[in-house]
Amino acid sequence: MNLPQIGSVPIQILDDNTINKIAAGEVIERPASALKELLENAVDSGATRIEVHFEEGGKNLIRVTDNGSGIPSDELPLALQRHGTSKISKIEDLFSLSTMGFRGEALASLGAVSELTLTSTLAGAARGGQLKCNGGRIESVRPVAPLDGTAIEIKNLFYNVPARQKFLKSTSGETAALKKVFKTFALIHPEIALTLKQEGKNISFYPTQDFFKRVCEVLDVSKKDAFHLSASGEFSMEAVLVHPKLNIATQGGVFVFVQGRPVQDKLINQAVMEGYRNLVMDHQYPQAVISLKVPPEFVDVNVHPAKLQVKFQSPSLVFRFVSSEIKKLFSEKLETEINPVKMDFFTPMEFQPQLLNDNVTQYNQKSFETSKAQEPVQVAEYISTQPEITNSRPATTSATFTPTPAAAAAVPAQAATWSGLQVIGQFANTYIITQSQKGLILIDQHAAHERVLFERLKNRGIIEKQQALIPEIIELEPWQIEVLTQNQWAETFDKLGFGFHQRGPQALAITARPAFLTDAGMKPLVERLCEQISEAGAHSSMEDVINNVWASMSCHGAIRAGKVMSPSEMKALLTEMEESSFSSFCPHGRPVSVQLSLNDLEKLFKRIV
Ligand code: ADP
Ligand code: MG
Repeated sequence: MNLPQIGSVPIQILDDNTINKIAAGEVIERPASALKELLENAVDSGATRIEVHFEEGGKNLIRVTDNGSGIPSDELPLALQRHGTSKISKIEDLFSLSTMGFRGEALASLGAVSELTLTSTLAGAARGGQLKCNGGRIESVRPVAPLDGTAIEIKNLFYNVPARQKFLKSTSGETAALKKVFKTFALIHPEIALTLKQEGKNISFYPTQDFFKRVCEVLDVSKKDAFHLSASGEFSMEAVLVHPKLNIATQGGVFVFVQGRPVQDKLINQAVMEGYRNLVMDHQYPQAVISLKVPPEFVDVNVHPAKLQVKFQSPSLVFRFVSSEIKKLFSEKLETEINPVKMDFFTPMEFQPQLLNDNVTQYNQKSFETSKAQEPVQVAEYISTQPEITNSRPATTSATFTPTPAAAAAVPAQAATWSGLQVIGQFANTYIITQSQKGLILIDQHAAHERVLFERLKNRGIIEKQQALIPEIIELEPWQIEVLTQNQWAETFDKLGFGFHQRGPQALAITARPAFLTDAGMKPLVERLCEQISEAGAHSSMEDVINNVWASMSCHGAIRAGKVMSPSEMKALLTEMEESSFSSFCPHGRPVSVQLSLNDLEKLFKRIV
């Protein structure tokens, strides 16, 4: 092996330039991290206006101009020195830190790995100064005409560190990263007017505005689809929570700030998910901006050089604060809301019966035979026997199914309530078709009933129990039996209406079950309970677990999709929806109802374009 001969080179102290290049690797990884540092410096300078300009994903140029306090001309070289900072002078200062930066590393690092020009005027000074630094060497410092604040230009980043340059992404990859930094910064600094320019063209501008408005603009959501949360207690939080109907498929929609700094914190992300629980479907994520402020002694923001991670003294308190405030807000705002998901994107193709799964089609056949006489018309049969009508207007077949403007206008004025909806029929034995003045509203019978049961469980807390005369014995894995017969859960199961006894290494006796679940098969539900209890993370409280269990119980107890419902059953369900504090999503976050306005229908039928 060719090990280097350690003894052959004498120990020597690295020169500053090399040290700075090494340090640059820690602080400045790519153009986006350079931009982040420059923006933070501009904030620290008290700027109220910042302009960012970049070219070629920042690889060629990044320029940040601010109207902040400026730097005295004679201090320009100091700003470029490692550990040159105006923000702290002794270690104690760290604990009362109110600035973004303090290490005095960013400019020194940037200067070492680029061609840097720093132009600045101290507020009120008659002259400004300009410093040029090239690959760590200060080439010139000269007086210039005064400007308002500071402009820092970074050209040819990493031109002298090929190893690093090689790892930069394509221009579009680096551009995306720059934009993300800008966006994140814009979210938390609504007090600063911001401009973003790419290759000389303005691509974003945000005026000084309030937090709520800024977040809505940056996330590009309407103000009516977002909620502003302001909470203070042990900690304080300001947040914008986007309506769950605008959930997205990636985790990138949650932005977290602690003490005004962007952080990537798993704990808070989980707390946000927990707050949105029952409002997000599997594989969906909310959009939210959370700005958390905690007492300084409670948090260490200095665990990472790029300051992306934080360490809380008492993580579970933070978790509970964030998740419970979000839950509270949703339970207030969404509870009584009738806001069916609107299917703007509905196309006639989606009505085609072959899209239904086999199960449902089978049920259709059955109901076709057994419920011929039944009123109202089973729309499923109608469509499944005449698939070719789906792209044309079913003109005369069913007056109730094709509301004309006149028919719609004839619906009496009604309050926006579930029980006030007029039931037209059932489709595919799965969806209840209703109408209101607003249009056609389709309700997923399973999701709706599930939500009703869930709300009831939540409100009652204690569930009516039915003792079994002959206990049902089910076969389970030993670990599942262990979970279900643990003492620590006995009281909880009792409250939930269950009685469990071990009958053998793999046999469990169900001695009692919640009364409302009598028809449901117990084994899948019990297996689900075991899963939820064992999956419960370290930060979930008993309450969270119970909440999950309720959701499973509601799902198992709710009327199935594919079950024929009589008109009176459908009406009864609507009344139950009315009575429980009802939100538009089932406990698993699926929408309960979908609305098609007359206008939507007329578009589908090309009456209007
Ligand atoms: P830090 O921000 O950790 O102090 P930097 O290397 O980022 O270190 O900046 C060094 C110093 O240069 C800062 O402490 C500040 O005094 C000065 N400085 C940098 N950017 C600006 C700016 N945009 N406006 C005013 N002063 C600045
Ligand atoms: Mg700095």
